[in-house]
Amino acid sequence: MTQSIKLPLNKKVNLANFDPNYTGKYKSKKEMRKRLLKTQAEIIELQELLYAESKHALLIVLQAMDAGGKDGTIKHVMGAINPQGCDVVSFKVPSDEEASHDFLWRAHKAAPSQGKIVIFNRSHYEDVLVTRVHNFVSESTWKKRYDQINNFEKILAQNQITVLKFFLYISKDEQKARFRERIENPDKHWKFSPADLRERAHWDDYMEAFEDVFNRCNTKWGRWHIVPANDKRYRDLVVAETIAKALRGLNMKYPEPSVDIENISIDDIV
Ligand code: ATP
Ligand code: MG
Repeated sequence: MTQSIKLPLNKKVNLANFDPNYTGKYKSKKEMRKRLLKTQAEIIELQELLYAESKHALLIVLQAMDAGGKDGTIKHVMGAINPQGCDVVSFKVPSDEEASHDFLWRAHKAAPSQGKIVIFNRSHYEDVLVTRVHNFVSESTWKKRYDQINNFEKILAQNQITVLKFFLYISKDEQKARFRERIENPDKHWKFSPADLRERAHWDDYMEAFEDVFNRCNTKWGRWHIVPANDKRYRDLVVAETIAKALRGLNMKYPEPSVDIENISIDDIV
């Protein structure tokens, strides 16, 4: 069985057709680990090039249900790269200042400048997910937001920002197992919040809201990837390989030296 991870354009998505347990062609965890190490090393090199060239930027959007693995993905995929060229921005309940602006204001402010990678841990998509599920805004308001998001992402793409969007897809059973671990393991208590159970009660509403996101906001300038995420190693590998491929595709070059390097000899330096 194969499963398309990069969502095809204009194809209706039904999450029931995606298997969160899928682990592709990999036979063992060892094989995945080896491959991840190789891909991480490649991302480190490509990020340096991105930073040096400063003609492009990368925005990575991570969305998931609670315990879906956003933090783990950030740690494993981006953990080794130069922090100077990478920011992680978490989208929480909007502050008073954020709430007094349009919903895209905080996202646009946090978007990467040239040469940078920015990871959105949650994102502007919360404004068509949690806000919709909990009726924080009217239906007519959230329905307009899909087009607004597409236009926003188009502005980014037209300004050399590659937008890669990942939904880390875990099953409801897997979420329960991860909550159990957080409740039973004292070192993980800090990760557990009663809000997680409140949101879990709306699982089906969230799946419906996610499907609408994929059906309305999967564009050629902002593609969604549905990452089977019950297996943490496979999840990390898929995200890492997608990022490496996107960076590779930018065909970057180190900039020309700003001085006539041929005429400079190390012996002239006192
Ligand atoms: P973790 O629990 O792993 O630390 P998290 O992303 O769940 O990470 P929390 O602080 O637990 O972080 O939760 C942030 C909450 O803020 C989420 O429930 C999210 O839905 C909510 N949120 C984000 N954006 C908005 C928004 N625009 N309107 C309302 N709630 C939002
Ligand atoms: Mg949380």
